Amino acid sequence: MKKILVVLGITCLMAGCTNVSTSPSPTTPPYIEELRALGYTEETIQALQEKLTEEQMDKLTEYDYVAVLLDIINDPDFQVERLEDYLSHYEPGMNGSALVYLINNNISYTYNEKLASIMNHPYFIVKNLERYLNYEAEDVNTIIQVVNSNTDREFYTQIQATDLSKGILLITNKYYQLEEDYVNEDLVTIDSKYSNRSGQKLNKEAYQAFQKLVDAGEEDGVSIRNLSAYRSYSYQNNLYQGYLKDHGQEWTDKWSARPGHSEHQTGLALDVAVKGQQSFDGFENTEEFAWLQENAYRFGFILRYPENKTAITGYGYEPWHYRYVGVEAATYIYEHDITFEEYYAYFVEQEK
Ligand SMILES: [Zn+2]
Repeated sequence: MKKILVVLGITCLMAGCTNVSTSPSPTTPPYIEELRALGYTEETIQALQEKLTEEQMDKLTEYDYVAVLLDIINDPDFQVERLEDYLSHYEPGMNGSALVYLINNNISYTYNEKLASIMNHPYFIVKNLERYLNYEAEDVNTIIQVVNSNTDREFYTQIQATDLSKGILLITNKYYQLEEDYVNEDLVTIDSKYSNRSGQKLNKEAYQAFQKLVDAGEEDGVSIRNLSAYRSYSYQNNLYQGYLKDHGQEWTDKWSARPGHSEHQTGLALDVAVKGQQSFDGFENTEEFAWLQENAYRFGFILRYPENKTAITGYGYEPWHYRYVGVEAATYIYEHDITFEEYYAYFVEQEK
């Protein structure tokens, strides 16, 4: 800085300037020209200047153009003392927050086409980056799906408490657990008009949506009814233990949830059947099922355990089991053909 002032002073004298003692008029620091030459836009340079010191700005000129430099410095985990590490590890096509994550956590990686498509996948989650790297599969979609839904981990390991603050979007599965005493606070009794069994309960909002669904179905000539909705922890426990005795561990874990892990405990899920039937056997081949395939999402319900998604949901195909998530989430899940596990990881847990 001192050197610049002296140079300016001389320039001033040579130009016949008499007011040498006042501060120099604003001049463009030399790094600006260099950054422009590297490919940085005026807008980016200005934004960088707000975050970095003169010295750090000057450092940037020693590296090639980093297209995601703004993403890097605006990342919540950006560490200014690692600036040069980020710059020296940048490769074209890299995702800025992914690079910050790799450097901050000292993760060793090989940057190639596969890693580039992982980083730029629409459902990429930076905190899962190390697990994507560790999961062996050729197909990037599979890697993203499996890790985001936690199925790279063994069932019933690393169990977290279900985040109840997510309301109708809360999740429970083989990795998220409800407390033993958790009961949905808005349970109401389902009218016999909508249920093949009496005394069944459902969350009020889900029930109102289910009534609309059933009524709309009737208008189209199908008769959908509830068969089994809310189940308490202890009820689920008895059910699970019964299956375990009769069918063994593997079968039981495929078709029945361990207590605390059942969607039926949330009050937001129900098994359906055709009117008057006490079983959902063969439900897949009914007009009612075909109608639900096309229409359930319009009322906020999703088919929770689809046929081709058992590796992600952790459950066998259950054409009868529906979960209320609200119209917005149900529509997205329907239109993008994803599971609730994936939707939850990307949109609910992340709060995008
Ligand atoms: Zn069910």
